[in-house]
Amino acid sequence: MPLKSFDEYVALAEQAHGHICAGQILGLRMALYGLKLLDLDDPLGRHRKRLVTFIEIDRCATDAIPVVTGCRLGKRALKFRDFGKVAATFCDVETDRAVRLVAREDSKQRAREMFPEIADKNAQQMRAYRELPDDALFTAQWVRVKLGPEEFPGYHAPRAVCAECGEGINFKREVQRDGRVLCKACAGERYYDPL
Ligand SMILES: [Zn+2]
Ligand SMILES: [Zn+2]
Repeated sequence: MPLKSFDEYVALAEQAHGHICAGQILGLRMALYGLKLLDLDDPLGRHRKRLVTFIEIDRCATDAIPVVTGCRLGKRALKFRDFGKVAATFCDVETDRAVRLVAREDSKQRAREMFPEIADKNAQQMRAYRELPDDALFTAQWVRVKLGPEEFPGYHAPRAVCAECGEGINFKREVQRDGRVLCKACAGERYYDPL
């Protein structure tokens, strides 16, 4: 199953995200550029399981990326690092190559210059993000991503149990604190306050 046409991806992204928007176009372009740089043209077929994607923001573009790559959170192939940046790193785990793409700050400006006649900003950006070349939309950087075996789907290891709350912990996410095994929440990273 090789890559689809851009319009087919747009239709799939609209389904996945609930509406079509400039962020969807940008996310699709980002994923396609990442695959191109890694020479992977069959992410849902022949190259399945070779790709892990790190995403640095939880916005519109994020939903478009799995549409192209097939990398999903529930398959452990999509990793979310909340840095608040429109950026993603595409890792080929077979060749150990990874490329990080960041959306360029000037792309909105480029869209204004390209289509000044389109008043609606979203429509203007959707048009421009379809047509601008990859390197006008993104800055690419080859990087190294260290992925331990516990990062991959199918990793099996004994579950740990938190000495404080008694909850089970998978994938080596436990921490050692003063000789005790704790979950991250009990070790101080709790994002909620028990009532
Ligand atoms: Zn959106
Ligand atoms: Zn705990």
